[in-house]
Amino acid sequence: MPKFIDAIELAGKRVLIRVDFNVPLTPQGQVGDDTRIREALRTINYAIAEGAKVILASHLGRPKGFDAKLSLMPVGARLSELLGNEHAVVMADDCIGEGVVKQAGDLKGGQILLLENLRFHPEEEANDEEFSRQLGMLADVYCNDAFGTAHRAHASTVGVVSFVKEACAGFLMRKELEQLGKVLKAPEKPFVVALGGAKVSDKIKFIENILPKCSAMLIGGAMAYTFLKAQGIDVGKSRVEVDKIPLALKLLEVAKRLNVELVLPLDHLANTSPEETKAATDVPRAAIPSLLMGFDIGPKTRELFGHRLAAARTILWNGPMGMYEVDQYSGGTRAVAEAMAQNRHAQTVVGGGDSAAAVAEFGLAAKMTHVSTGGGASLEFLEGRELPGIKALG
Ligand code: ADP
Ligand code: MG
Repeated sequence: MPKFIDAIELAGKRVLIRVDFNVPLTPQGQVGDDTRIREALRTINYAIAEGAKVILASHLGRPKGFDAKLSLMPVGARLSELLGNEHAVVMADDCIGEGVVKQAGDLKGGQILLLENLRFHPEEEANDEEFSRQLGMLADVYCNDAFGTAHRAHASTVGVVSFVKEACAGFLMRKELEQLGKVLKAPEKPFVVALGGAKVSDKIKFIENILPKCSAMLIGGAMAYTFLKAQGIDVGKSRVEVDKIPLALKLLEVAKRLNVELVLPLDHLANTSPEETKAATDVPRAAIPSLLMGFDIGPKTRELFGHRLAAARTILWNGPMGMYEVDQYSGGTRAVAEAMAQNRHAQTVVGGGDSAAAVAEFGLAAKMTHVSTGGGASLEFLEGRELPGIKALG
């Protein structure tokens, strides 16, 4: 574990906090979902209460050079609302350079300077040394609270550490590392994993790392069809990664050898194409008729998954059980989210961008022990990889 912000003396110091304000924007350019801003408040408020001068840095989207549409201005406005009138948020017009150095130097205790989008400079993603130095010179202390970007070795997550006197991680980072860390290192049994999403290929390393640790793995989503196919079950026109069939077979064998129950769908909701809006066909068995594609797990599967989830003491969920963006295929994903929410004995952890979005949409986020703010970062962490942004903190 890195050093955390509460282990550092902050009074009177300038603290550069790398936050993850990479939030969705509405077509009107407003903040669509402010979860990530709210999740950063604890560290920001703590630093202010300790008498620090706070400088916030984040990226937003994928700009190629300066792009007014990806300015952090709307984020600053939302942050300002969330903080109330007590603390003024000052917006910088860049993230490095003379003007910003002056603004950072002029900060008074309790003031917050929000730097402009880091990725307006390609040097950010290149982890450029000079750019890192210029970020570092804005502050005395560097604090990384951007779990969602910790899997990237960028200037603001790695390079900058060499150019400040002290470096630490924030409270959101601590929560992520504690929750995901516990799942990996000391899950209370039964440990049940619900795994879904579009492709097996995205989740291979995750499965290989988690399978030996869990009691049961419930597989839904489009990736389930590759596993069914590997067992010789017809899946009609459903999405199958043919080149991953040998791997699926191997994983089925590994699960058997380790005595891990690998649970595949017993039934499905299917239709003729992803665009088809007519009501889905109930396919009451594992095999799918030749002209149909599976888009969600069926009622028998929901019930079976529900039983396993109800008996669990640790639940890790990654990946929707179906094409949940379409209302009629959201039932399987909702069933998993509800079963997790109802289990009061288990540590319930959601990792994965789409899974987290689904949980938020169902209004169940507060019922989970932890919903990770990092899609890609949580996946890499759960693959057992060391995240560069954490490693850099020493
Ligand atoms: P996460 O972001 O939570 O890790 P993924 O990105 O792996 O999840 O997968 C989410 C995507 O998988 C969603 O866009 C969803 O529509 C798609 N998906 C899941 N099941 C199916 C299915 N049966 N058919 C088509 N798409 C599916
Ligand atoms: Mg996704």
